[in-house]
Amino acid sequence: MDIKQNICPKCGEPSEEGLCNKCKAEEVDWITFDARVQCIHCPTCGSLRHQNTWTDCEIDRDKLIEEIALDAVHIHDDVRDLKVELSSYDPSPNRTSVRVDVHAKLYGVPVESSCRVLILWSKEQCDRCSRYSGGYYAGTIQLRAEGRKPDEYEKERAIEIANRHENELQEMGERLSFITSTDEIKEGIDIVISSHNLGELISRSIIKELGGKVTRHPKLAGQKNGRTVYRMTYLVRLPRYQKGDVFEDKGRYYEIRGTDANVIRYFDLQDGSLKISKEEPAGRMIGNVKNSESAYVNYINSDIAGILDPKTYENKECILYPWLEVLEGEEVRFLRDSDKDRIIFVG
Ligand SMILES: [Zn+2]
Ligand SMILES: [Zn+2]
Repeated sequence: MDIKQNICPKCGEPSEEGLCNKCKAEEVDWITFDARVQCIHCPTCGSLRHQNTWTDCEIDRDKLIEEIALDAVHIHDDVRDLKVELSSYDPSPNRTSVRVDVHAKLYGVPVESSCRVLILWSKEQCDRCSRYSGGYYAGTIQLRAEGRKPDEYEKERAIEIANRHENELQEMGERLSFITSTDEIKEGIDIVISSHNLGELISRSIIKELGGKVTRHPKLAGQKNGRTVYRMTYLVRLPRYQKGDVFEDKGRYYEIRGTDANVIRYFDLQDGSLKISKEEPAGRMIGNVKNSESAYVNYINSDIAGILDPKTYENKECILYPWLEVLEGEEVRFLRDSDKDRIIFVG
């Protein structure tokens, strides 16, 4: 026997120094737990409240019970090889009792324990749902168009853009940025929003995609916690012309090719040149190429094309400009200028 070997003062077994591992493990309070835990959740959207902060809860109930129970159990830092088993039942609709069985090793000695955590469920409307149901708003995006009404496509796109930004901000944790309501009115659409950030993002994205301008009109809404509160109207004015619109100006016809980034690009349907303007060109609206008709080209005679009018089945001779490459026997797309009884090829 090694004369240097120590003896555990508690049990008399050999030990390296002081208490042996078994007695050390017995002395340590290696597991403690909270017997009752309250969990507040929103009955409308399922968000959870921790102290005064609400967060969206993406996990299902079983997973949540597991998380709450594990949070309620506190394990000593020296514990190793932890194995936990959970089983739960609901003694009443607002309570869940979770049995937690723990097996582990402490200083190499196997230890085990079990405890019960009672989860008390309570419901409270969250910050977002209470604002939402109270019709809270910080501003309104008014979608309008210059000299016309926004069409179905533009209205649809604006709503899609608005929903996309709302989802993005919600996913980023900006809980209080949401769309309060979307109202279709005679002149366009009003999108009511609950934060200025959301209003800025939506209105800027709409003009980036559909063209036009945003003007902001703040209105004093009162004081809150010593701060002045403004409500903002974001007036989004879409351009008079949309992509594909054909208009007539001084006997010439043009097709709008783009209205984004504050620049209007339009195509001269006579000489095939592309023009760029900061201002909206004046002119008389003929139609949009997406509503064009198509006709069969019977013959081409230098700069004249004879087409079969699909409405009257008559042969019509129309000017064929060089930029338009059409062959006999092919189809060509056109718009009608009914005021001047003319057919305008749009390619
Ligand atoms: Zn001992
Ligand atoms: Zn809620």
